[in-house]
Amino acid sequence: MSSRIPGFYKLHPDERLRALEAFGVVTDDLSPWRSGLSLEAADLMVENVVSTFSLPCGVAVNFLIDGRERVVPMVVEEPSVVAAVSNVARLVRKDGGFRTSSDPSHMIGQVQLMAVRDPADTVARLQEALPRLREEARGVHPRLEERGGGLVSFEVRHVAYDEPGHVREDMVVLQFVLDVADAMGANMVNTLAERLAPTVAEVTGEQVGLRILSNLADRRLSRARVTVSPASLQTEDLDGMEVAERIAAAWRFAWADPYRAATHNKGVMNGIDAVAVATGNDWRAIESGAHAFAARDGHYRPLTRFELVDGKLEGSIEVPLQIGTVGGPIRVHPTVKANLGLLGVTGARELSGIVAAVGLAQNLGALKALATDGIQAGHMRMHARTVAATAGAEPHEVAAVTRELCRKHDFSVEHAAEVLRRLRAAG
Ligand code: NAD
Repeated sequence: MSSRIPGFYKLHPDERLRALEAFGVVTDDLSPWRSGLSLEAADLMVENVVSTFSLPCGVAVNFLIDGRERVVPMVVEEPSVVAAVSNVARLVRKDGGFRTSSDPSHMIGQVQLMAVRDPADTVARLQEALPRLREEARGVHPRLEERGGGLVSFEVRHVAYDEPGHVREDMVVLQFVLDVADAMGANMVNTLAERLAPTVAEVTGEQVGLRILSNLADRRLSRARVTVSPASLQTEDLDGMEVAERIAAAWRFAWADPYRAATHNKGVMNGIDAVAVATGNDWRAIESGAHAFAARDGHYRPLTRFELVDGKLEGSIEVPLQIGTVGGPIRVHPTVKANLGLLGVTGARELSGIVAAVGLAQNLGALKALATDGIQAGHMRMHARTVAATAGAEPHEVAAVTRELCRKHDFSVEHAAEVLRRLRAAG
């Protein structure tokens, strides 16, 4: 079984699914990918539902992650993302593909005490009460403990609001770490925070404020690494080592400048979010955690790293990933279930490693394009199909219009409309 499927992009969507039979795709029941979410199921997920809303679901091929072949579903509206990660996955296969590791699913919850009068005394009282709080936490999610999860630790923090020109406010925060096993964990953490709050108020005599998780999931990091031989990076005009050096230089620009780092990380999130959406995960939570983590030294930095080591390009990523394979909408959405089946993951940590690898692949693809031809050459070729459709081209006309837009290097909708008019006039 290989995820390297030459010519995959040329197939019809149904043929693509059949080509993935080896990955467990049911060939005679394509309905989870065809019909998607029913209105009835959607009505159970959010409020005031009037419709469902579709987005393209593609699959990235060629991935070798921790020695396993993977086909990765990606839901994204932006052209080039799926093609870019598939290309990079192909490039790095001969160097062994991606290696990943993920922390246990440790999520942080907070119980805040507001406008505390004597912070040192409040911290001491809470520390004294930790055995009692630990005991109370034990009863909150009994099934979680059976699954190997449960409370990991407590921490008591003094936090000060000391914005210049405003009245100072001291707060004390009871912070806990909960192992949420294969869930994303927000609801489980929030439940525990609310259950601990009355005792926190009682032992301190202070007023409880917020009781909620932190999306800065920095105890739940995922990492991926890749080594690329310069020969794999060679282009028509550039030697592979030159491309590798340019990629490393582009990374140093992102490390030095937050204006560049923001766009660098946007590329990373193109990959991460697309897999998160395809697997029913909360991409806003992942986004907020990733960006807060990127700014952890007080300066917004790239989430990845690229450098030349012993004549090869080494790439790595470290990112908090609050990702689940159970809970949330996962059981309700048929395409999510089918996508998880296609990935063949057994739990949250395994999925997190794959997501980190896709983020790194996407970033490498973007840096390679930026450091060589520029991003527009490849991107606009893909985007041309959307422009053709926007100008009114029918599916059978899209290829001809796209070819003409690429030939003239004019990707405006006006030009596409003109090409379409000429095409139709010519019969
Ligand atoms: P959830 O409430 O569905 O809880 C997970 C469920 O899965 C539990 O009932 C648990 O018993 C069950 N389960 C079965 N097998 C399990 C296993 N192997 N490991 C762990 N649990 C297992 O979901 P959740 O993960 O607690 O919360 C996720 C949802 O919360 C997302 O939909 C998210 O959008 C939402 N949310 C997010 C935020 C935030 O990020 N700030 C805030 C509130 C809610």
